[in-house]
Amino acid sequence: MSDTRPWLKDLSVEALRARFGERGVKPYRAEQVAEWVYGRGVEDPAAMTNLPRDLREDLAREWRWRALEVEAVERSRDGTTKARLVARDGEILEAVLIPEERRTTLCVSTQVGCPLACSFCATGKLGLRRNLSTAEIVDQVLRMRELLAPGSALTNVVFMGMGEPLLNLAAVVEAVRLLLHPRAFGLAPRRVTVSTAGVVPRIRDLLEAVPVNLALSLHATSDAVRDVLVPLNRRFPLAVLREALEDLPRIGPRHPIFVEYTLLAGVNDAPEDARRLARWLHGLHAKVNLIPFNPHPGSEYAAPGPAAIEGFLAELARRRLAVTLRRSRGDDIAAACGQLAAQGARPGPVKPALPAAEDAPGGC
Ligand code: SAH
Repeated sequence: MSDTRPWLKDLSVEALRARFGERGVKPYRAEQVAEWVYGRGVEDPAAMTNLPRDLREDLAREWRWRALEVEAVERSRDGTTKARLVARDGEILEAVLIPEERRTTLCVSTQVGCPLACSFCATGKLGLRRNLSTAEIVDQVLRMRELLAPGSALTNVVFMGMGEPLLNLAAVVEAVRLLLHPRAFGLAPRRVTVSTAGVVPRIRDLLEAVPVNLALSLHATSDAVRDVLVPLNRRFPLAVLREALEDLPRIGPRHPIFVEYTLLAGVNDAPEDARRLARWLHGLHAKVNLIPFNPHPGSEYAAPGPAAIEGFLAELARRRLAVTLRRSRGDDIAAACGQLAAQGARPGPVKPALPAAEDAPGGC
C-alpha cells in the first residue's frame, strides 16, 4: 500500500505549532523539531534527544521525512555544483550551488519542468510535469547543504531553478517561511529571492505573504519581442506588468526589484532596446541584471559579442540605471541560468501553458 502519511517538511514552524497544539503536544516542541531538522540537518526523530520519548515515537510513526535523494552530482571548474535529485514518485529535478567569494547561493527548483515555454530556456522545453511540494523545495536546501565544502555555509537562496515559482505560490510561501524562521534555516529576508516571468496577479500576493526580494525576468521591452521570448506576455503584456509593479510592499530604494534581462544577439541587444528598457523602468526602484544567453542543445539563440554587451551596459549606465553583468557560472556542466533540464527526464505531458487570469493566488 502506498504511504499516505503527511510530510513533516510541508509545514512551516507556525503550522507545526498549530498541529501540535491540536494534539495536546506543547507548541514550543515545534521550534525544537525545527532546530533539529533545519538547523542541524537531523531527520531521525530518535536522535532528537531533548524531546520526550513518546513524542519522538509519534514523530517517526506519523510523518514522512525525506522527500528527495541525490541521484548525481556534477562539479564545475568554477566550483558550481549541480545535483540531480529524485522525488519519491521518480520525478527528477535539479538544484545548483554557486560559491562566490563572500557568499554561497543555492538555486532551487519549484516545479518539475515548467509550463511557460520561454523560447530561449531549456527547462521550458520540458513542459510542466508537476508542482513541487514545500517538503521537496526544502529538501533541496537540506540535500545541497550536505554537499557544501567543510567550513562554508549557505548564505543565499534564489528561486531561479526549474519552474515558475508564482504558479506554485502556496508551496513556495511555506518554504520561504521555513528559510526565514530563526529556529529553522534563519536566513535574513534580503538573502532570499523569488524570480518570476511576470505572473501579474500573484506578484503582490507573494510580497504580502513573505518579505523576500523580487526578481522579474523581463528580457524584452516591446510586446512583439516579449510575446515570443516569454509567451506569458500574451496574457500579461508589458503595460499591465509595469502597472503591477507600482507601489509593491517592501520595494523601495533599499529593496529594488531585480530585473533580469537575458541578452540574445540580434533579438534584444541593440542600443535602442537599452534605451527602451531605461524608459520602461523609469520611476521604479530597480536593479538590472544582464545575463548573456547561456547556450543549450537545440537552442537557436546566441549571446551577443563583447562589444554589443558593453554598448548595452553603457547605454543603461548613461541613464544612471543600476546595472550588473552576471558572469555565467557552471556552464560547463549545464548548471547556468536556463540550462536546467534534468537530462534524461521524461518530457512532460502537454498541459495548458498559462493559468486562467482570474485564478486564485496559490491555486495552481
Ligand atoms: N520562471 C522563473 C524562475 C526561473 S529564473 C523566471 O522566469 O523568473 C531563471 C532565469 O534564467 C530567468 O530569468 C530566465 O529567463 C533566465 N534564463 C533562462 N534561460 C536562459 C538562458 N539560456 N541563458 C540565460 N538566461 C536564461
